[in-house]
Amino acid sequence: MKIEKDRVVLFHYIVSEVGNDDAAEMESSRDRDPMAILAGHGNVIPGLEKAIEGREAGERFEVDVVAADAYGERREGLGQRVPKKHFSGQKLEPGMQLLLNTNFGPRAVTIEKVGMSVVDVDLNHPMAGRDLHFDVEIIEVREASLEEIEHGHVHGAGGHQH
Ligand code: ZN
Repeated sequence: MKIEKDRVVLFHYIVSEVGNDDAAEMESSRDRDPMAILAGHGNVIPGLEKAIEGREAGERFEVDVVAADAYGERREGLGQRVPKKHFSGQKLEPGMQLLLNTNFGPRAVTIEKVGMSVVDVDLNHPMAGRDLHFDVEIIEVREASLEEIEHGHVHGAGGHQH
């Protein structure tokens, strides 16, 4: 069964940054259950969605995705100064990534500078501006249930548990 819109796809991936051979893999699903997505519903970055279309279970392939089709380009002006008390006493170091509760809900931020009472953070997505290299293995492709299509995501193993 080929991957197309409204089908459930289970796949493993290893992601690294293009052109950065020194960097270890940034993230991998290999040490856990495969990721489950509903194809054609924006569950993954656009470049990956495009790359898996038409593939079948058992296929393993590699693909480069430019930043614009991944987590977007880095944007200037997303720096912010946050009172230290918002970081609940954890040890902070430049380059560290963590979740910060903001007025818009939890956001991944990168620590830029740690002062006495304030912390400078960057609100860009940690992977923004990076061209990514994916090693993908399609594990399973199946039809989605009507309920899954209605919700726009996968239910059960690797998906949403309601
Ligand atoms: Zn649901």
